Amino acid sequence: MSGVIREISVKREVLEQFLEMCREMYPNENIMLIRGKVKNGAAAIEEFLIPPFSTYGNSFSGFSPFMIPFDLSIIGVAHSHPSGNVMPSNEDFNHFFGRIMIIAGYPYNVNILKAYDGNGATIPVKVL
Ligand SMILES: [Zn+2]
Repeated sequence: MSGVIREISVKREVLEQFLEMCREMYPNENIMLIRGKVKNGAAAIEEFLIPPFSTYGNSFSGFSPFMIPFDLSIIGVAHSHPSGNVMPSNEDFNHFFGRIMIIAGYPYNVNILKAYDGNGATIPVKVL
C-alpha cells in the first residue's frame, strides 16, 4: 500500500449520500469508511459505509481503526467538521486510516470538502 494518490473521483450521488449523513448528524461529527479502488495513482470512490461500532459524538475519538474490518477495498475515512473548518486536526492524522482522508465542512456541500493523504497533502476531488 504505497504510492502517491494524485486524484480522487466520485460520483455526485455517492458523495451526496455522505454529505446527507453529515447534515443528519449535525451538530455531531459524521464518520464513514471510504470504499473504492486505487489504480495508477487515482482513487475511485465507490461508496461510503457506516463504520461498525462507531459512536457518534462531537469528536473523532469515538472511532477506532481497530474496529475496521480487514478489507482492502476500504481506502480511507471520511468525516465531517461541524465547525466548517476543513483543516485536519492533529488527532485526525493520529487516526489516519487507509490512504485518503476526506473532510467535509458545515454546511456540507461539494465546495466545502477537502481530501488529504497521510502526509497532509491535499488531493483534488473530481465529482463525476
Ligand atoms: Zn477532523
